[in-house]
Amino acid sequence: MTFRPLSGPMLLAASLVISVGSSASVARAQNGYSGSASSSVSSVKQTPAEAAEYLAYTPPDTALVWLTELAMLAGSVVRVDPFLTQPGGTTGSPVVIPMATLGYDPSRGIEGDGERVRVLVIGSQHGDERTGYEVALRLARDLSLGDLRPLLDDIEVTIVPVLNPVGMRAGTRFNGSGFDPNRDHVSLEAPANRVLWELHEAIEPHVVLDLHEMGPTPYEAQVGLPTHPNVDPRLIEFARFRLLPYVVQALTRANVRFHEYVAENPDPVYRTGTEDPEEIFFSYAPITANNARNAFSLAGSLALLLETASSHEIGDLSRRTDRLYLTAVSFLEVIAGISSEVRAVTWQSPDDAQAERTFLALRADNAVDPDRPSLRWLRWSDRGRAARYTVDQWRPLVEVLSDLPLPAAWLILPEETELIAHLLRHGIRVERLLEPVRLPVSAYATPDSLEPATVRTLPAGSWLARSDQARWRLLFTLIEPGASDGWSGSISPEPGSSNTAPAYPGRETPIYRFDGLVPMLPVVAASADELVEPRPAGER
Ligand SMILES: [Zn+2]
Repeated sequence: MTFRPLSGPMLLAASLVISVGSSASVARAQNGYSGSASSSVSSVKQTPAEAAEYLAYTPPDTALVWLTELAMLAGSVVRVDPFLTQPGGTTGSPVVIPMATLGYDPSRGIEGDGERVRVLVIGSQHGDERTGYEVALRLARDLSLGDLRPLLDDIEVTIVPVLNPVGMRAGTRFNGSGFDPNRDHVSLEAPANRVLWELHEAIEPHVVLDLHEMGPTPYEAQVGLPTHPNVDPRLIEFARFRLLPYVVQALTRANVRFHEYVAENPDPVYRTGTEDPEEIFFSYAPITANNARNAFSLAGSLALLLETASSHEIGDLSRRTDRLYLTAVSFLEVIAGISSEVRAVTWQSPDDAQAERTFLALRADNAVDPDRPSLRWLRWSDRGRAARYTVDQWRPLVEVLSDLPLPAAWLILPEETELIAHLLRHGIRVERLLEPVRLPVSAYATPDSLEPATVRTLPAGSWLARSDQARWRLLFTLIEPGASDGWSGSISPEPGSSNTAPAYPGRETPIYRFDGLVPMLPVVAASADELVEPRPAGER
């Protein structure tokens, strides 16, 4: 994947003043934008669903052509690239997944020019949640031709409008290999997810917006903040107290009932269990690392799940598209409005003074909040009305069951190429020792028992992964042998998960922890090219 700087003149934002509905007034209130609430954007370039007046979905195969046409209209502010070609499998011919970059300038690098915030928008990881795709196309148009255009002064937006077109063709959340792409961000079995992480490494987005649908609930818009215990708590606080209030206000003004994602919705299709009735209706927002919002947030971005209530029928496509669009636009607006704060809170390397005192979680579980032992909730009654419902012993907190301090580095034996390839796929920096080294390191006799440090000789060709890097929280979570959802932990995958990483049962793990200052060592940067691919690179 290559990215070139944009060239050519930018269109004057004032040349096309186009309405996006209620968000225009929100934008004016925040940033003084001059969007008009009268003219119609659909006269410029309609999405296929708009052209069908939302009586038909946008076909999953049309994104590349549609975005290319948009780029011809909009000029160099839009750049369209092929993202991945996905074999159609039983659904027919291969599908090209495109991506569009709006105002993105790759020459700026991770620190950029100190101004713009980079945003990655992911549409329709789940193939049967088509609203994300519809919203992604609208965002691409309105950022390039519409009244969202002034936002590009403060943000750069990369959009992958439909990550799972084969699942969309088949009408399923699962991908062509039958697993859930949003339970694959640890394992990265799905080629689309591997390319997505390459993209994440290339553009290092400050914010990731992951667009989904949920079942029909009285709550029409839902936002999931990262929940993994190793995500920087400052990142979660920032999202909850600096970004969400603005978004909720915008939704409230549009009469959209919002709540933060703490539980599964009570859609009847989920009423499959035979346990406690509360457990049938409610489960907790997953705290594992393998969904996009947790994995990308561990990596250093602020990644958020944006959902709209959906019947999954065509009848409410227009309304649910409007709601999810408004949710996404509100986030873009507030992010643009406080862009320096967003930049300051994301991609935080460990502070030297703090690093020695930083403990990260190996295992965690949901726990009761003593201050709020029950949850009051609305759900549809059998008569189709919103009914009050209370869950006792509600467990909204994330309790850390075991943890470890952050080491200065991990050393890994040379033969562990599959683990190293795994780290590199997540954009984690790894080096290779050119000479043997003697160091005091601590080892795991088993994944659950860490031994005191002893001096050992590690052979030339061993790998070195330093915690002093931007993706340190993700590195810890993936590499620690005792971490429940990492590479070699005792993984209990959720249904649909692709997590098949091997544990190291009954023997010392080939991963060692080193504390203290890493001495000067002859090393070279590890690259995926020197590693044998552990699995065939065929499509999954
Ligand atoms: Zn989903």
